[in-house]
Amino acid sequence: MSDDRYNDTNDEIKDEKNTDKNSSHDDYEDVCFICRRPESKAGKMFRLPNHICVCDDCMQKTMDTVSQFDYQGLLNQPPNSDFRNGQGFPNISFVNLADLQGDGGIPNKQKIKKKKQSDGKPEIDIKNIMPPHKIKAKLDEYVVGQEYAKKVMSVAVYNHYKRVATGTMDEIEIEKSNMLMIGPTGCGKTYLVKTLAQLLDVPLAITDATSLTEAGYIGDDIESVVSKLLAAAENDVERAERGIIFIDEIDKIAKKKNTNSRDVSGESVQQGMLKLLEGAEVEVPVGANSKNAMVPLATVNTRNILFICGGAFPDLEEIIKQRLNKRTSIGYNAELRDKYDKDKNILSRVTVEDIKKFGMIPEFIGRLPVIFTLEGLSKEMMVKILEEPKNAILKQYQKLLELDEVKLDFEHGALEAIAEKAMEKETGARALRAIIEEFMLDIMYEVPKDDNIGRVTITREYIEGTGGPIIDIRSNSLEHPDNLNVIAGSGQNK
Ligand code: ADP
Repeated sequence: MSDDRYNDTNDEIKDEKNTDKNSSHDDYEDVCFICRRPESKAGKMFRLPNHICVCDDCMQKTMDTVSQFDYQGLLNQPPNSDFRNGQGFPNISFVNLADLQGDGGIPNKQKIKKKKQSDGKPEIDIKNIMPPHKIKAKLDEYVVGQEYAKKVMSVAVYNHYKRVATGTMDEIEIEKSNMLMIGPTGCGKTYLVKTLAQLLDVPLAITDATSLTEAGYIGDDIESVVSKLLAAAENDVERAERGIIFIDEIDKIAKKKNTNSRDVSGESVQQGMLKLLEGAEVEVPVGANSKNAMVPLATVNTRNILFICGGAFPDLEEIIKQRLNKRTSIGYNAELRDKYDKDKNILSRVTVEDIKKFGMIPEFIGRLPVIFTLEGLSKEMMVKILEEPKNAILKQYQKLLELDEVKLDFEHGALEAIAEKAMEKETGARALRAIIEEFMLDIMYEVPKDDNIGRVTITREYIEGTGGPIIDIRSNSLEHPDNLNVIAGSGQNK
């Protein structure tokens, strides 16, 4: 997860640069240099040289202040005094216009994109929305297994965008399809949402519920999630209003049990999120996380934003087992008490009651009508994750070595050994990359040294530390035992 986030930030930084470079100033609203309100809020602006704009109110205030200023007193100071040098006024600094070359000092990152001239047609055309089976087929290309989750998501997303496209034209208002996904860590929750947003071409903001606190406390306030989405939509409010917000680790904002202090990061956050989930107008800072920063504010309506919450919900299995056992502990069925202990798919029997018992408040769950679970990854699924998805890790390494004109093969046993090691770590598919990277390090280091190497085959023995990979020398046949050469692995024979 951490390296994913690292990449995300990098991408954001890149995007910011691109945005500032690519989009012209005409795409963005002017912002008052003093109060930072956009033109749509503050009204017509006075345009000063160097693209500095000042709104009517601020211009008026400035004029008033200037007219009250005691120039006489100032000019009567002795020639060497601080006042003469312009340094004597506490807290008053004079703006140096030369510092503001070009763009009025406010980067595009902090400006709202202008509304497009609408020709009366809705932005999303129902005919152009991808039907569920196509969405699922696309997800299949990237995500292994999780058939049920992919199906539920495809339908929910399809319905959601149908709802967005139709608006609320008649009395039958289609309910929002916000989702709650429950599944162990590393089973592909974030990955599913990322893939979905990419194929639908909508902006996506990913946040962690653990950092959220009730407004006014240390931590991010709840509306910061909308601010992130706005940034992902390049400050285009309309695009953001059709985006997806993924809130990970949602189980961390469960009601705290046995606490006497105010629960600012648990129940209060759930309360605070209610209006966002349902649809509300929120004022969010543009280009910053805090409203206190001197940045313009934009109003974003969350009515059409799709919220997807995800979490591992540890202990939920216990709650489900308890409920199921209660049912079977009456009369003759009493001996089946441990019947569910070995049930691997116990999580899929979850009900709203169980989630309530876990600590989510009913109003909160009520606003996430689509609830589904993801399965923990089995060894077979791990092997598939290694080799099947469009951007599978193995394919990435094969491509890297292909650039050195070396063929990279993995024996099936090697893949199984990697999957077994990953299973032990209990962090889902996230462990796979770390394990492969460790084993590939020597290969990636040694192979470019020797131009004769034509093919490398990774064996189970190499992964298990009892042998090395098979190296095939270019233009020679593999069958010839004399041509098989084994390079040093981590502690293996040379
Ligand atoms: P989490 O469920 O904790 O959000 P992630 O979605 O972040 O887990 O998964 C971590 C990584 O593991 C992903 O970036 C992806 O490469 C890989 N992965 C996890 N599950 C799958 C899957 N079902 N299919 C393909 N890749 C997966």
